[in-house]
Amino acid sequence: MNVKRNVLLNPGPSTTTDTVKLAQVVPDICPREKEFAGIMAPMREDLVRIVHGDPEEYTSVLFCGSGTICIDVALNSLLDEGKKALVINNGAYSQRACDVCRYYGMPLIEVKQPLNDTPDLQVIEDALRQNPDIGYVYVTYHETGTGLLNPVREIGALAHRYGAFLISDTTSAYAMIPINVSEDNIDFCMASAQKGIMGMTGLSYIIGRRDIIERSRNFPKRSYYCNLYMQYEFFEKTGEMHFTPPVQTIYAARQALREYFEEGEEAKWARHQRVMAAIRRGIDELGLKEALPRSVQAGLVAAIDYPDVPGWDFEKVHDYCYERGFTIYPGKIDGRGGFRLCALGAIDEQDITDFWAVFKEALKANGIKLPGPA
Ligand SMILES: *Cc1c(COP(=O)(O)O)cnc(C)c1O
Repeated sequence: MNVKRNVLLNPGPSTTTDTVKLAQVVPDICPREKEFAGIMAPMREDLVRIVHGDPEEYTSVLFCGSGTICIDVALNSLLDEGKKALVINNGAYSQRACDVCRYYGMPLIEVKQPLNDTPDLQVIEDALRQNPDIGYVYVTYHETGTGLLNPVREIGALAHRYGAFLISDTTSAYAMIPINVSEDNIDFCMASAQKGIMGMTGLSYIIGRRDIIERSRNFPKRSYYCNLYMQYEFFEKTGEMHFTPPVQTIYAARQALREYFEEGEEAKWARHQRVMAAIRRGIDELGLKEALPRSVQAGLVAAIDYPDVPGWDFEKVHDYCYERGFTIYPGKIDGRGGFRLCALGAIDEQDITDFWAVFKEALKANGIKLPGPA
């Protein structure tokens, strides 16, 4: 079988290897067979290992759904009676977390911070001091819309000082940026198989503190399908998901995890950084401008403003690149036209070099002239 290779520069799903794609082609199996539970048990351990969690202290719980299911599950399952959620809102994904809290009618302290700068820790500390009933603090590790990196370790330390625990949406950082849950003061984090581990869509996971999950057994139940304790308990008792798992996606994830550990945490992060450096070289060469200073970026997403030049047409440039196997993606910053180039997935420097060559052809074919180096 020969599968066409596309270079995805969108923020996930990411480009996958052929071996991960082909790992989905397996004999039909009923996921209630012991053989299938035997695939998920080591997977749960591997997912904890990626963020260096002590397996006594941390566990992982798998869900069938896109990454947002973990935002939903973590927020709605981990808030005890009489407690408030504190969400640091500085991007599209933390806005989503605020929306989830409101949908469930949960008491929410929303700490709004600028989209383009590191949040002010003093403001977060003040909110914690003024609200002694905060159950958890929630922060997006890497805001994928802008590329902003949040100071999760410092925010986690603050949460702990005020008796709250920390939930971080690490979906667009997990298995890319090295994370150590205990050093980074993270009690719960989450991700999705189509991002960092370079697997397929449809499988997502929460990694978090066993003792808090056990305690959450008595927290208010706000959802039937999306409850963390229920899924955890089922896994602990039977080794299975409560409801039908995404079978083929799990086979692909098993292969993706093998490849993750083969490549290694450091080498993989070095590769993503190499890819981003190549993206930035092209940006500078063409005189494109990014929405955020590089000093506050995580280094995995470049959010580029639409250039203010005659004839610029994102659709046309996109289509030209797409037809040649390169996918670029619109921006996600309200009121600001732009597009994104992301360093996720099974790609390397040469792919970016090839991409910029095609991008330049696209400009030429459409009569668009960019300013060039500053
Ligand atoms: C991709 C992503 C998600 C999940 O989005 P889905 O579309 O539900 O897969 C959640 N949080 C962050 C930060 C993300 O980048």
